[in-house]
Amino acid sequence: MQVNPYNFPVVHQNIPKQQKKPSNSIYPIRLNPMVISTYRPAFKGTYTPNEQAFIKFRNVLMDFYFDLQQKGYEAQFAYYRDMSNSKAKQEYYGYMGALNFYIINSGDNVSAALKEFETGGINDKDLKRHHNHIAKIFKPTSFKPGKEEEIINGEGGLNQLILNGKKDSDEYIEKYIELIKARNEFARTQTYEEKGRKFKNYYEYKFKSEYDVDLDNHFKKLDKLKERVEPIYFQLLENPDFDNYYYGTLIKPIIFKTGKSPEEISKTLFKKLGWDIDDYVNKGNLELDLYPNPNKLPNTWNISPIDSPNNVKVFANAKDNDIESLRLLNHEFGHAVYELSLPKTLHKLDRGYSSTSLTEGIAKLFEDIYLKEPELLKEELELTNEDIEQIKDFYPIYAVSHLYASIDQIYKEKNIYEIPDNELKKSNEELKHIIQESSTQYIENPGYHNIYLAADMISSQLYDSIKEKAGERPISEVIKPLLAENIFKYGKTKTEKEILKDFTGSELSEKSLLKIVEQVEASLKKEE
Ligand SMILES: [Zn+2]
Repeated sequence: MQVNPYNFPVVHQNIPKQQKKPSNSIYPIRLNPMVISTYRPAFKGTYTPNEQAFIKFRNVLMDFYFDLQQKGYEAQFAYYRDMSNSKAKQEYYGYMGALNFYIINSGDNVSAALKEFETGGINDKDLKRHHNHIAKIFKPTSFKPGKEEEIINGEGGLNQLILNGKKDSDEYIEKYIELIKARNEFARTQTYEEKGRKFKNYYEYKFKSEYDVDLDNHFKKLDKLKERVEPIYFQLLENPDFDNYYYGTLIKPIIFKTGKSPEEISKTLFKKLGWDIDDYVNKGNLELDLYPNPNKLPNTWNISPIDSPNNVKVFANAKDNDIESLRLLNHEFGHAVYELSLPKTLHKLDRGYSSTSLTEGIAKLFEDIYLKEPELLKEELELTNEDIEQIKDFYPIYAVSHLYASIDQIYKEKNIYEIPDNELKKSNEELKHIIQESSTQYIENPGYHNIYLAADMISSQLYDSIKEKAGERPISEVIKPLLAENIFKYGKTKTEKEILKDFTGSELSEKSLLKIVEQVEASLKKEE
């Protein structure tokens, strides 16, 4: 147990075992900002007294926070592995409840304290960043994340919906509609400050509150991109040589010719690029749970716990001999190598990926790199030289179809939230169609698909830049040191903007993606 000079809430050892959120009596909040700002730590350093006091404040506040979060992640992993494990479920919800409670009930006090520190002057760049980071977590607001969670998860719980939901059942659609309605109702009670009105629906609310993006502006840009790509995609669809394998993304059946499992293939790919997945596992730094099991959550993700790079987990439901599973594993291992490469010397507040779009961009880079560089898996996929040429020719088509599929998913999701409540039932058929054709991820993270689109841009931007830096050398010689030195080693100490600018020479741009679109357009014109 740590020293607790500010009477912060003390961890009650039994929290996870409680199903209800702990009451105020267990969490006495007696934080007094005045006491903190006059506190003079004993250690010597180059920090000003105010900065030294802030460091103390930061450590006490965040050690407790990270401790709860870390335990929550562990419990979450155990619970998602086996959702009949009621002890793990209780622990997971216990820790998450405690974390929420901590944030909500300390919000006003922490914000007041942060203001004091700001007035006192924080000049150190790292401390300034930490100050901002903490301010983002502990907001003084009437908004209660715990309450919102209840609303957006719907009655019976969100996980229940995903787990039991057969997408073609009426019950699933009914539940889905119920959830959308409840979310929209909630959003319409919240004020869009800049526009001086209530939010139109939950989708608009989520864009603003979580990503700080204005929905209307965002879609003005997207409309243009869609207009550009849509006709090309429909022209591609007419070609009978292509299979639709992932929400409209086209693939050529050629790369199915292999007896190896996606796990073996993916691990080989990473080994050739410089990362030994098995070695991380053997050293205990990486935990893999890759295959379906009864009672396992049917999603795929990667967990980035606080003590990465020592403790990274990949969770998947991969199937044998399935191209989609290869894509998924490449993607999740991509997240994993980012987190496994973070320097241990970084402060906990900096030990993570720089932005969500950037880690998704890295994951996307690995996801389909074997289609851009088929030589990497020549033996694994039993490819002839002719196959390799074919895959290279095919890649732009894959990329454009993937881009369109991604845009299409974003519009589908937006539509779901925009159907007026009184028409939700009426347009059941249309809605059913949209819901059945959309990924279950939507329910959990509305708007998140836009991150994937940004990630597609980042991934192609990074790839172009890596190729340029590689020159005549094969990508396998340069990719690891380039990513490690220019991205991974910084953790959160550099922003996504700074990283992209310093590494590729420009901020986030669709230029690289559009180059591929133009390539496909030109080849289609030639065929005509
Ligand atoms: Zn991802």
